[in-house]
Amino acid sequence: MRKGLLIIISGPSGVGKGTVREFIMNDPTLNLAFSVSCTTRAPRNGEINGREYFFISKQKFEEYIKEERFLEHANFCGNYYGTLIDFVDELRNKGKNVIVEIETNGAKQIIEKLNGNDEISIFIIPPSLDELERRIRGRKTETEEVIKERMKKAEEELKLAPLYDYVVQNINPVQCGEEIKQIIKNKLK
Ligand code: 5GP
Repeated sequence: MRKGLLIIISGPSGVGKGTVREFIMNDPTLNLAFSVSCTTRAPRNGEINGREYFFISKQKFEEYIKEERFLEHANFCGNYYGTLIDFVDELRNKGKNVIVEIETNGAKQIIEKLNGNDEISIFIIPPSLDELERRIRGRKTETEEVIKERMKKAEEELKLAPLYDYVVQNINPVQCGEEIKQIIKNKLK
């Protein structure tokens, strides 16, 4: 059986990665699975342990780092986030094309390790920084301080676009999702 692809989807926080990912994952022909990351941040309303994230303590996260269980990990706005090697490999070995939806420091770490054959990296960009701020505010999940921090970080993150195989603008989730689906289909040919 062919090993599944590793599909890295990155972009600044609030750009709509999650919505686009959900749209893409609704297409059964792509045989996709989502890499559930570990995080030390608190669950938001409606988030379920093991579905959006594995919500773990800082101490446990640091143990996992020592045990080299992460493909990549990063500190984002005061919390750890990391992709589990075993979680991703098990799915890929079953032939699933695995979507890793992560921030740019982590994506950079994976891209540097890639051999390019069974992997694609995609960077989602907002139509503008103003639009990004509007979207983050619209989510109403972050405090003013966190919004400012995330906007500052977004400006830095956008500079990393040239590292990726593909850059896709998210004007709306359907257009952006369709473009990404096409990228994946071309890779699967
Ligand atoms: P949020 O707190 O909004 O769920 O996520 C914050 C940021 O962390 C988002 O950009 C999200 O894509 C990213 N993220 C989620 N999981 C991981 C991960 O495993 N590794 C890294 N490096 N970033 C992640």
